[in-house]
Amino acid sequence: MALVTPIIGLYFVLVALLVGSFVNLAADRVPRGESLTRPRSHCRSCGRQLNVVDLLPVAGYVLRGGKCASCGASIGIGSPIVEAVAGGLMVLAIVWLGVWPGGLAGLALVAIWGGMVVGTAVRGERRDDRAQAP
Ligand SMILES: [Zn+2]
Repeated sequence: MALVTPIIGLYFVLVALLVGSFVNLAADRVPRGESLTRPRSHCRSCGRQLNVVDLLPVAGYVLRGGKCASCGASIGIGSPIVEAVAGGLMVLAIVWLGVWPGGLAGLALVAIWGGMVVGTAVRGERRDDRAQAP
């Protein structure tokens, strides 16, 4: 058990980071009315399909220096922040409550965080629509 518990904790944090990555995708696509599954993640600027390195939560942003590897378009600091907060919420919950039920509480926190981010993105897009209306 001494070794298994930290591995489960790490697994929960990894899941939280991946959920954070999905939250970014949803916050980008939901306001535009695009599908969440197709096409695969790509650069908005040059259309290059993102690979494993690009998709690593937080680390991908750091490795790429915050830019697309092909065209150099800025990725935006928002993406790694959303992922880091998701991972951080999970770490907090596990430190506070232990792996169980901390992992479960962490997933709930990450879900709430994701809802806030996507909700804010959708509202932001609506504001833009109104601003562009004649
Ligand atoms: Zn690009």
